[in-house]
Amino acid sequence: MTTYIILIVVIAVLVLGVAGTMLLRPRGMHGVRRGRAGQLDLSSGPSATVDRDTATAPSDQASESAQQVASAQQFAPSQPQARPTLEKPPPSAGRMLRLRARLARSQSGFGSALLSLLSRDRLDDDTWDEVEEVLITADVGVMPARQIVSDLKMKMKVEGARTPDDVRAMLRSELLVQVSTEASRELRTQRHEGRPAVVLVVGVNGTGKTTTCGKLARSLVGDGETVLLGAADTFRAAAADQLQTWGERVGAQVVRSDKEGADPASVAFDAVATGIEQEVDVVLIDTAGRLHTKNDLMDELGKVKRVVEKRTAVDEVLLVLDATTGQNGLRQARVFAEVVDVTGIVLTKLDGTAKGGIVIAVQRELGVPVKLVGLGEGPDDLAPFDPATFVDAILGG
Ligand code: GDP
Repeated sequence: MTTYIILIVVIAVLVLGVAGTMLLRPRGMHGVRRGRAGQLDLSSGPSATVDRDTATAPSDQASESAQQVASAQQFAPSQPQARPTLEKPPPSAGRMLRLRARLARSQSGFGSALLSLLSRDRLDDDTWDEVEEVLITADVGVMPARQIVSDLKMKMKVEGARTPDDVRAMLRSELLVQVSTEASRELRTQRHEGRPAVVLVVGVNGTGKTTTCGKLARSLVGDGETVLLGAADTFRAAAADQLQTWGERVGAQVVRSDKEGADPASVAFDAVATGIEQEVDVVLIDTAGRLHTKNDLMDELGKVKRVVEKRTAVDEVLLVLDATTGQNGLRQARVFAEVVDVTGIVLTKLDGTAKGGIVIAVQRELGVPVKLVGLGEGPDDLAPFDPATFVDAILGG
């Protein structure tokens, strides 16, 4: 009897086992397929490593072929990956007005301090010293601060402005005079003589150079131009990837070298050659900003410029300066200006400092206009510089 029961149990287990296997098989196949999908997805992140055993070999193949593609594409333009929808950035016009609140938040301390000093009943020497001090603290620079004080003293004497509105109007017009320059702030980014405009973006690492290239590319695309980016900052490993991400978002090609430390001039040359061939409107070149010595910089940047000029003219050399670095930034600006002909200044991080007076100081120092300002880390937080909007933001008007 016991033997009979054991026999029945064994048969039942066998029957259940077979049925179980048959039921589970489709799920097992599905699992493999998911594993494959996971392998294809490996590039999208470590979380996609679903089935380790099956994923390993193809993943190695994938990285091998990726390496082959990468080496075959040395200096080759990386086509923007097909994306369902490219971003459509807003045009550049009116951006500074849109970002004015951010500017006013950071700069109004300096403006309101000036307004309250100038509205005192008695403007004695001590008060004028305080005005000068506020200006110097806001990085306007010693000479321009003295000039502003002397102009305001004179105007007060002649015009006798006393109402708050009079004082504001007088200060506004004086600051506008100081911020304005004769030189045009227009960016030369139009194709000419059948060739793309070429813009070199230079500056010390950390100032926001690569971010500025990316933001500028977006803004130009927003204005209807076709843009090619050259990743000639080959000394900072992440710079080319950073640029590629910016480019992909708006459909701008990026010419780069996958070799760290590759010759920046070769990358720049190749970017311009590709831009000419592909008939883009603008080639933007991000350069390396290693400021060991002036000679190093001269060798590097000078060579990039010379090599590019073998193919076409360089239309703009934009110097990126971090507005939060004050006097140190001005020193950097001087060195760069001695090495290349800077045609415009990009002041970044104006949202992060109350020292907007640097606009006046740097223009005076280099004799070159501020053409663009960075007002945040967002992709569209780069604006063409507009003196009136800037001064109004300072005065909170
Ligand atoms: P690079 O080394 O000069 O190429 O500097 P990056 O472009 O990598 O920028 C350095 C940092 O500055 C990044 O965190 C940027 O997001 C930040 N940055 C750039 N421009 C601005 C700006 O206008 N405002 C603020 N707040 N941050 C900025």
